[in-house]
This record gives sequence, structure tokens and C-alpha cells, in this order.
Amino acid sequence: MRNNSVAIIGAGITGLTAAFRLQQRGIPVIVYEAGPRVGGVIQSVRQGGFLAECGPNSILETSPKIASLVADLGLEQRRLYSEPRAEKRYLVRGGKPVEMPGSLGGFLKTPLFSAGAKLRLFREPFVRRAAGEAEESVAEFVVRRLGQEFLDYAIDPLVAGVYAGDPARLSVKEAFPKLHALEQRYGSLILGQTLGARERKRRAEVSKQSAKKFSFDEGLQTLVDTLHQKLGNAVQLRSPVASIRSSPAGWRVIAGGEGARKVAEHSAVLFAGTAGKLAQLNILADGVPSLAPLAQIHHPPVASVVLGFRREDVAHPLDGFGMLIPRVEKCHTLGTLFSSTLFPGRAPAGHVTLTSYIGGARNPDLALKDPGTLAELARQDLRKLLGVSGEPAFQHSFVYREAIPQYNVGFGRTRELMARVEATAPGLFLAGHYRNGISLGDSLVAGHDAATRIAASLGVSSELARHIETPTLVEA
Ligand SMILES: Cc1cc2nc3c(=O)[nH]c(=O)nc-3n(C[C@H](O)[C@H](O)[C@H](O)COP(=O)(O)OP(=O)(O)OC[C@H]3O[C@@H](n4cnc5c(N)ncnc54)[C@H](O)[C@@H]3O)c2cc1C
Repeated sequence: MRNNSVAIIGAGITGLTAAFRLQQRGIPVIVYEAGPRVGGVIQSVRQGGFLAECGPNSILETSPKIASLVADLGLEQRRLYSEPRAEKRYLVRGGKPVEMPGSLGGFLKTPLFSAGAKLRLFREPFVRRAAGEAEESVAEFVVRRLGQEFLDYAIDPLVAGVYAGDPARLSVKEAFPKLHALEQRYGSLILGQTLGARERKRRAEVSKQSAKKFSFDEGLQTLVDTLHQKLGNAVQLRSPVASIRSSPAGWRVIAGGEGARKVAEHSAVLFAGTAGKLAQLNILADGVPSLAPLAQIHHPPVASVVLGFRREDVAHPLDGFGMLIPRVEKCHTLGTLFSSTLFPGRAPAGHVTLTSYIGGARNPDLALKDPGTLAELARQDLRKLLGVSGEPAFQHSFVYREAIPQYNVGFGRTRELMARVEATAPGLFLAGHYRNGISLGDSLVAGHDAATRIAASLGVSSELARHIETPTLVEA
């Protein structure tokens, strides 16, 4: 018999958001989390007045669904928008951080690009659209439209900052769909940016460039801890799901490790874990294509190194969001966030916090070095680029062995496979950073939208009830 309960696999932001939104509709949920804590890659560590974000640092408010979750969780008073002076961004060129231009006048004057590269930009509207359907890499696309220097000094560092990825392997259509769509729709990125901005204004949408960034007083952990609190016993930690089987009630979920096996019947299942784990999930149902190809999705490791210094030990004004470092500059780090400029409360008085990232597709082996080496590599770059001297007053590093899924050329076929699996397995839903976009905002919206789709499949109104139901645990 169907019991209308939903199994959510994974307690990252995608799974927690979906669970909370289902619970608000009065639908019982169980969240199965393999690890001992909620949040997935979100992890904030508070120590001696410093706050280190090991994973993501901020959310871009690109959708009203994001603000509405914060409001429904009662977290509006604890939300911190980024400081206005953190709008400035730096790119490293010639061993120095150089402010990125924010206007046409600034672009014409900036030393970041040569006169030849600037001239090349004005020719961009006359470059023809790509012919054919083949997926093009970000590097091919950028060199074709904007030239090699833009790839080296603008797009390569941006790709490192967003994906920790390699522009020669990422698919422009899958990883930067808006860029690809600008070319398809307007025939030019420059024309598309201008005309697209007018259209967005008409539709009251916010672009990623102009969206507000936020976090919370105790970091992003506040968001996932509050979701956990609201969900209470519905979250089952240390419960890896290895197998799901289609059953008369819907789906039988088999979870548990180290001897504590749990079996429960659910009407629907949402997989909100990672691509690698989805590839390994044993799905026992007739006619469902194998998800084994998802094991090919590359997740290069990334290490975050958070260092606290006395203010007087840093020569740079740290008046911005941070700096990105192009590959051609041959540094150890991909970039550094000026974390204590971005949000208040990240460092005690008279101190600053800097967060550097190492590894990614550019240099995967470096991310796996021991904590002492990671801190030393980050400090070498900080000494050279920001004039940092003295010993750190705080240091914390964390390695994500499988950090960010890379939407490399060929990912389009993987996306189609996921759609086919959902179409052939009624009641099985797939959502998260391995499918719906890699940012925190994308994941949160994916969780929200998955809850709407699941509620509709169960015949429950898509309207959110504004009260929270106590979850009913369904165990067999
Ligand atoms: C170092 C780093 C920095 C980042 N910085 C930013 C940033 O500043 N801004 C931004 O917008 N985005 C950032 N991102 C990206 C963003 O954080 C992620 O895309 C997002 O948090 C993914 O959430 P998720 O819930 O989909 O997946 P995850 O956070 O990976 O959570 C998945 C969860 O599922 C669990 N799980 C997997 N398989 C199973 C199973 N079989 N059974 C039970 N549980 C399972 C895992 O243990 C995990 O807890 C960053 C990512 C990293 C790694």
C-alpha cells in the first residue's frame, strides 16, 4: 500500500531543501545521509574569533525561491549580505593583483589586457555563430569569439573560480549555458549582454553578475543546521543507501552500514547525493537504463586553506571580494577570497581572514598534499601577491577529494540519460549539483523544484502549507 512518504538520499543543501519543502506540504519524509553530519560540502568552523568556510562561502540570490527559504526558516535576521566594498574583484597579471574593470571606460584603460586584445573584443559581434550541433569546449568557444588573451586572463581564472575546472574540457553549452545561448540567440556575446539585460529588466529577473551575495552570522552552516533542526528525526545520519527496488508500494529503500541495515517502503525517492554514488546505486526496476556512465563525471579534488593574519601583516588593502589567478601566472593557488572583507565576523578585531583554493582540474595532485604543505603553498602565493608577512594567527585546511562535478564536453549525453531514467522509473527523482547546475543557489532551487515535482506526482497540492508537519518515520 502506498504511504505517500518520500525517501531523500543525501543531506546536502539539495536534499535538505527538498525535504523541508515536502514536510511543509504535510508529506512525511526520511532523509538518508551517508555521513555523520548534514550539509554535504557546506562546512563552517568557528575557532577563536575566526570563522572558516571549508566549502562554499556565499550564496547568490538569483531566484526568489532562495529568499523564501531563508524567510520560511526564520533566518532573515541572521542573514548577512556581502559588504559593498567587496564588489571590487582582482585578477592577477604579471605577478600583481589588478582591479577588474567595471565599465567600458575602465576596460579601455585597464592594464589587464593588451591593446590588441581590446581591439579584438570590438570585432566580437562580427564573429559567426558555431556551425553544427557538436558540443564545443569553453576554450574553443572563447578563442573563436574573443581570442587567446581573453581565455588566458579572463575566462581561465573565472572557470577556476567557479568550477575549479579546465576550460579546454568544460562544455560551453553545459557549463555556461547562458553564454552559449547568447551566441545562439543574438549571434554575439556583447550584443546579447546588452539586449539580454533589457529583457531581464522587463521580466524582473536578476543576472548572476548583479545578484546579491549572502551568508549568515555563523556561516552557511547556519542554513543547513536550521534545516536539520526543522526536520528533526526525519534525518537519519550514517545511513548510506546502496540499493533501491521498485515495489508495490513504490520503492523499497535499503540503507545502513556497519551492521545497522534499515529497510523502508516509500512512495517516491529523490536522489540528492553525488554523481559517483548515483553511478554505484543499485536500482532494481524493470527497463531502467544503467546509470554507470555517471562514474565518468570528473570531480577533481580541491583544498581550501583558510588563514588568519594580523591586519598589519598584510600590505594589500583587501578592498574587494578576492583575487583570481590565471594558470599562465604559474602560482600554486587558483585564487583567494578576502573572507573578512566579504562578511563581518570572520576575524577578531585587528585581524583578517583569507581563503585560498588549491588543486582542481588545473593541478589535482597539489590538493592532496598534507595540511602543512597546503598552508605553505598558500602562504608563498600570499606573500608574493598580497604582501603577507608574519605567522598566521589561525589556520585551517580541508580537502574535498571529489569537489565539484565537471560538466565537460559530452555531459549533454549524461543529462539525457538522467532524464531517461526518470521517465522509465516513475517515483524516482534525480536532483542536485550533478544535474542542475553547480552553485549553491542552483542546488537549493533544484531541491525546491524537486519537492514540487514529487508533491505533484503524489497528487498533493503544489501550494506550500505554511506550517511544518512532524515527520512520520516509516521503517520495515
Ligand atoms: C570547495 C567548494 C567551494 C564552493 N564554493 C561555492 C560558493 O562559494 N558558492 C556557491 O554557490 N557554490 C559553491 N560551491 C558549490 C556548492 O557548494 C555545491 O554545488 C552544493 O553545495 C551541492 O549541494 P548538494 O546537496 O547537491 O550536494 P552535496 O553537498 O555534495 O551533498 C550530497 C550529500 O549526499 C550524501 N550522499 C551521497 N550518496 C549517498 C548515498 N548513497 N546515501 C546517503 N547519502 C549519500 C553525501 O554524503 C552528501 O552529504 C563550492 C563547492 C566546493 C566543493
